[in-house]
Amino acid sequence: MQYIYTFKEGNKDMRRLLGGKGANLAQMTNLGLPVPSGFTISTEACNAFYKNHNQLNNETLAQLKTALDQLSQNVGKSFNSLSKPLLVSVRSGAAISMPGMMDTILNIGLNDQTVVALAKITANERFAYDSYRRLLAMYGNVVEGISEATFDTVIEDMKHQNHYQSDLDLTTNDLKQIVSEFKKVYINKLHHEFPQNPTEQLLAAINSVFESWNNHRAEVYRRENNIPSDLGTAVNVQMMVFGNAGKDSGTGVAFTRDPATGKKHLFGEYLLNAQGEDVVAGIRTPQPISTLKEAMPHLYAQFEAIAAKLEFYYRDMQDLEFTIENGKLYMLQARDGKRTPTAAVKIAVDMVYEDLISKQEALMRIKPESVQSILYPEFDEKDLANHDFVASGLPASPGAATGQIYFTAEAAKAAHDEKQQTVILVRQDTSPEDIEGMVVSEGIVTSRGGMTSHAAVVARGMGTPAIVGVNELQVDYQKRSATISGHQLHEGDWLSVDGTQGHIYIGQIKTADTVVNENLSTLLGWAKQESHLGVYANADTPADFSQALRFGADGIGLTRTEHMFFKPERLLEMRRLIIAENAEARQLPLKRLLKMQQGDFYELYKLSAGRSVTIRLLDPPLHEFLPHDEKEIRKVAKQLDVTPTYLEQRVDSLKELNPMLGHRGDRLAVTFPDIYQMQVDAIIGAALQLLDENVIIEPHIMIPLTALKSEMSWVKDLVVNRIEQLLVNKNVRLEYTVGTMMEMPRACLTADEIAEVSDFFSFGTNDLTQLTFGYSRDDVGSFMPEYIKQGILPADPFQTVDVDGVGQLMKMAVEKGRSIKPQLPIGVCGEIGGDPKSIEFFEQIDVSYVSCSPFRVPIARLAAAQASL
Ligand code: PEP
Ligand code: MG
Repeated sequence: MQYIYTFKEGNKDMRRLLGGKGANLAQMTNLGLPVPSGFTISTEACNAFYKNHNQLNNETLAQLKTALDQLSQNVGKSFNSLSKPLLVSVRSGAAISMPGMMDTILNIGLNDQTVVALAKITANERFAYDSYRRLLAMYGNVVEGISEATFDTVIEDMKHQNHYQSDLDLTTNDLKQIVSEFKKVYINKLHHEFPQNPTEQLLAAINSVFESWNNHRAEVYRRENNIPSDLGTAVNVQMMVFGNAGKDSGTGVAFTRDPATGKKHLFGEYLLNAQGEDVVAGIRTPQPISTLKEAMPHLYAQFEAIAAKLEFYYRDMQDLEFTIENGKLYMLQARDGKRTPTAAVKIAVDMVYEDLISKQEALMRIKPESVQSILYPEFDEKDLANHDFVASGLPASPGAATGQIYFTAEAAKAAHDEKQQTVILVRQDTSPEDIEGMVVSEGIVTSRGGMTSHAAVVARGMGTPAIVGVNELQVDYQKRSATISGHQLHEGDWLSVDGTQGHIYIGQIKTADTVVNENLSTLLGWAKQESHLGVYANADTPADFSQALRFGADGIGLTRTEHMFFKPERLLEMRRLIIAENAEARQLPLKRLLKMQQGDFYELYKLSAGRSVTIRLLDPPLHEFLPHDEKEIRKVAKQLDVTPTYLEQRVDSLKELNPMLGHRGDRLAVTFPDIYQMQVDAIIGAALQLLDENVIIEPHIMIPLTALKSEMSWVKDLVVNRIEQLLVNKNVRLEYTVGTMMEMPRACLTADEIAEVSDFFSFGTNDLTQLTFGYSRDDVGSFMPEYIKQGILPADPFQTVDVDGVGQLMKMAVEKGRSIKPQLPIGVCGEIGGDPKSIEFFEQIDVSYVSCSPFRVPIARLAAAQASL
């Protein structure tokens, strides 16, 4: 078995065997770049090492001897030579990068003799002893387990005694003394000397690096990042080059493009007369790489050319390490550079234009969720650093907001309208009657509720940052105050919320603006070309819809018409309708609502410019529209011109023990057909209005909560009869469809029957999940976090599809539905419609489109493209 590969033998595709660093060193060698010679001991040798009770096996030892002899021959240096001493570095390098997790030892080969030889050859005694003290400290730490602090203290004491500012002030004699102090540390702590034999040093170093694969921090890192622990690490043994060999030496790191913005220029830092560790550890302050251009113009030009060559070859932004030894440049590492989401998008798009990568590759390079941070406002980093969060909850709607707190929608609105304050609405929970307060708020916080609670759904729809289910929050409406994790807050106090993380901060934190990103829209355009799945928006207002269109939505997949009833004058009519005693009393409010709804639909249709718009008829239980506390009841009774007692009776009569399982959705249509008829009138009325303007609209009408074919059939007849009547009256034809939401398990189980009477399906996964699990979507906040923490659930099924349960019902419904109507359009309009992992599954089961809140449209679009590629 070959355990050791020289850099000439490997290439970039051998990561698994040689680790990332080894594979890239080999690749750079083969590209003819100046890489110090060396070899890689493979990950297989690491696994063999563990099998052999943490010892290198004989085969590896034999190959190591050969590799070392070859290296000596290549570079004309050897261990213990006093004329040409060989010094090597030993570095770990796993297949998947684990930055800083494992160990490195430099300057192996130095001892009391070779240090003298090195000083003589380089005519730089200071450099030789500086290198030696580094070896003593690194070896002591990595191989012998002596703390770094022990060695640092010796140096700090020396600097302190001599009033030195920097390590550079240490004289040769100081360094010699440090070396002798370091050696004493070995005797005192270990009762043995530092090994003088270079081969012994090398073997111990290799052993330690292999062992560091299983050190605590590496294990934790692997667990966090889902890296399998049986991959093993490789070890790279490489001839040392010295960035600390004098003033024309140095070391640095550089990115081929700016990792923060993605701008195409060399970006990095270097230090003269230093070793890599100094840059990484931040011991001295490095210079920007641009100044190297003046300091060493030739060398800068060479480095620039190498950087371009590597980027061209790897076809991605590179993170490079280099060393300059006596004016000669060496490349020590190249790897794909880490970058911000903004930079990632810009680099991917630029590289397509530079013909480096294909559009498909560009799409695959961006993590869909990462796009969020480009879309939402965030806290100003500097200002955020001065604050600690006091509580956290479910990150219901992303983005950062800061404002003054109010506990009722009314107070929030008054503060906003009258005092022009920026407002954060803080409540136990929200209900539709809070909508006006929600609209004016910059952020929303509730102590109760889950990811699909009213507050969460509405906030996401509006793109307002929100945190729900904050267990540490208690609101006292009476006293107009709240307690958050023991902190007392009063109306008007400042609070800052980070809806992306779910963190709450007391006080005011500056936010940084969101910029509309041209690169992102380019990328989303490509994503659309590549996707099978359509991406629509859940939008209830022209403002939501416009936002969604700016993000590239294909149309509207769900308009929740009830959200249109929560403006004051409409709520009043809705309430008049609900409390009406007879059909006659219902006429006037219905007429008024019709007019308003028709106006809404007209606006949406007009904005749609030919895109499809799916409108869902009324869904929530009626009592949601009614006032609840005594004060409100009195106020509303007055508005409606009835007695408070009468109103209270009506409210009571509509109260249900389980409203979510009660009188809602199409059940309302069966008992109050005139409401649905009014909505159909409004939809068709709007379409006909546009027809008069020569704009052809094909209305898509969606029935919520269907469980039975007979039920769907009943409601569909109601709707179709009404439409036909309207069309006959006007003597025109209009194409239209009437479909159903699939949100009852029974509907999924009998999807073939339901398909017979439906023009399309749209999965309402919020209700479907609620009903499949039997979890109230408005109450999951109390136990869901614990279920996830305990590993009982892998993820919140209201956020990521539960493939084995809910997902199977969906799959069955798709198959059954299409067995009857092969071309049946099938969408998903619950919250998980915007979740990348779920989208992957929807693509597999052949869903036709997803629909999600406007701000998730870009994420869903990218995920849809990736699922198709
Ligand atoms: C659903 O249940 O998934 C859905 C989209 O409808 P709503 O959230 O309005 O109940
Ligand atoms: Mg629903």
